[in-house]
Amino acid sequence: MKQVKYTLDEKQIPTEWYNIQADLPKPLPPVLHPGTKEPIGPQDLAPLFPMELIKQEVSTERYIEIPEEVRDIYRLWRPTTLYRARRLEKALDTPAKIYYKYEGTSPPGSHKPNTSVAQAYYNKKEGINRITTETGAGQWGSALAFAGACFGIEIKVYMVKISYQQKPYRRVMMETWGAKCIPSPSEETKAGRDMLAKDPDCTGSLGLAISEAVEEAAGREDTKYSLGSVLNHVLLHQTVVGLEAKKAMEEIGDYPDIIIGCVGGGSNFAGLFLPFVKDKIDGTKPDIKIISAEPFSCPTLTKGNFTYDFGDVSGNTPLLKMNTLGHGFIPPPIHAGGLRYHGMAPIISHLMDLGLVEAKAIHQLDIFKAGVQFAQHEGIIAAPETDHAIAAVVEEADKCKESGEAKTILFNLSGHGHFDMSAYEDYLAGKLQNYEYPQALIDDAMKEIPQL
Ligand SMILES: *Cc1c(COP(=O)(O)O)cnc(C)c1O
Repeated sequence: MKQVKYTLDEKQIPTEWYNIQADLPKPLPPVLHPGTKEPIGPQDLAPLFPMELIKQEVSTERYIEIPEEVRDIYRLWRPTTLYRARRLEKALDTPAKIYYKYEGTSPPGSHKPNTSVAQAYYNKKEGINRITTETGAGQWGSALAFAGACFGIEIKVYMVKISYQQKPYRRVMMETWGAKCIPSPSEETKAGRDMLAKDPDCTGSLGLAISEAVEEAAGREDTKYSLGSVLNHVLLHQTVVGLEAKKAMEEIGDYPDIIIGCVGGGSNFAGLFLPFVKDKIDGTKPDIKIISAEPFSCPTLTKGNFTYDFGDVSGNTPLLKMNTLGHGFIPPPIHAGGLRYHGMAPIISHLMDLGLVEAKAIHQLDIFKAGVQFAQHEGIIAAPETDHAIAAVVEEADKCKESGEAKTILFNLSGHGHFDMSAYEDYLAGKLQNYEYPQALIDDAMKEIPQL
């Protein structure tokens, strides 16, 4: 394309999400009950989620209609713009064409409201007026807080304590949308109290905050729970990103050779690539390379085991077959770039097992270097999470420079970094160093995972 940016018309916001479960070469392994270790049924999940989301979790319908009320809210920021990073291409002196889908223009500043709005809608429709959740850096908490405001639902967010202390403005954002936010571990749940008794200075982890949010929702009739990544229905909702990207690329007459995204639980990456991996599975585009980028300090796909594990620290969630570092994983405090979850979306783990997706780990000094380079040429200061994707893009563009191939690279610019200036400050001040999560800790953690 000649232009620098391309945006579909508002009428072109997708009317259906794409469900990869219809096209998987091999179906997903079943989800198991944490007690009996038998496959779970819809009733097992009913205390936590509204029935419509439970149905989506296991649906094999190829397309699932996006309710008009959800599309109406999507209109506040969708369709998002597809950019061609011409200035970065020039700076890298690469023949590669680099495109990015910019999800940072949503009200909370990331891709996350694509699912929070849908989840809030289905809860409301089933009469639920109160939802608990957890948040790490605060992006998910703020996305759900925004969605709660859209539908008049009370939102309670357990925020990983270290982020609660280091990122006060994400908390204020949640409170502005009317949500309640408390640091985890807290005294409000058994999981929190147990942890504080063991370690009063515990700075928290996503796995622990999940335990707290799940415990509260399971214990109250009027409350359900919401998760911002990992689960099938979350990835489903995120496919609006890839569907729009595919349509826009079709209109400008291009198609990606390489698709890149950063991965925490996997939702933004999956949202972008799933509508394209369909073409790889059915053989129309057998050669697309689909690459995930993760931190060396939380190397779930590159070093984790593909096995059944819990989604939380206390072992109360159903068992998912996924890549995992062990549910007791506590991220090293030195790590500044987000993407700290011990597990990975079962769909992505499964596609990697089938050889349809690749993974790469990146050091934090390299992610910030790429993020700063991107900001200086393209203007947008990306979230540190997104910087992992950018670093992987730069690497692929450099390979094109060496080989002289003009490949088309597409990546998800999952969010802006305007609340992450302290991480950039630490990088610019030379305070960060690289850290590789030790194999010995993973081996130890594997001893704690449930034996089947
Ligand atoms: C939450 C978040 C991520 C990581 O979550 P995924 O589910 O892996 O997408 C990445 N980028 C941004 C901007 C986020 O807010």
